[in-house]
Amino acid sequence: MSDNDESSEETSNLSPSEIEELQRKNCVFCHIASGKVPARKVYEDDVCLAILDINPAGPGHVLLMPKQHYTVMFNVPEDVLGHVFIIAKALSQAGLKALQAKGSTIFAANGVAAGQRAPHFMLHVIPRTPSDGVGLYIPSRALPEKQAEQIAAALATALGGRKGEAPVDATPAKQDSGQKGETAPEVKQDDPKQGKTSGKKSDAIDLDAIASLLAKEGK
Ligand SMILES: [Zn+2]
Repeated sequence: MSDNDESSEETSNLSPSEIEELQRKNCVFCHIASGKVPARKVYEDDVCLAILDINPAGPGHVLLMPKQHYTVMFNVPEDVLGHVFIIAKALSQAGLKALQAKGSTIFAANGVAAGQRAPHFMLHVIPRTPSDGVGLYIPSRALPEKQAEQIAAALATALGGRKGEAPVDATPAKQDSGQKGETAPEVKQDDPKQGKTSGKKSDAIDLDAIASLLAKEGK
């Protein structure tokens, strides 16, 4: 964006909420969420929106975001974030089903240091096949024992008392069906027919609709 310098000068006298308002006004993903800017929607509910990336890494590369403007993951309320990840799971399964993908890469560029370019937090869900040539370079380095100990301790301290307890209100209300933790059905990768169970307990996620939209785009 060429007018970045201008806006940073403008923002120097603004309050945090005014800055946020300005960000929202200039955020193309907020405009997509409100319908002002067109996009190829794959999934939408009250909380989040999934669209096809206009320059995808591969067929079915989806950008999944909260409709509200949150710049980085830190700002996203836990119930919203939990919901977004549930939809990421559904989109991932839809890619397996509709596009014959064999896996999915799901990532967030969280912060400028991580390569984040858009000011609106989102997840990328990329259907994968073994030979798709999509690269995600994660180096594999040596980790000396002492350093491992220090790093693990530092992270544990930073996490505070959070010892594996479920975040409060982070999951949508569940029906009491005795299948705890299963919010979307598993689909076997090598058997597309298995996806038919989607209506059972889907929290209103229409997996078949997502899959058919993805399938159209993949052709
Ligand atoms: Zn936004």
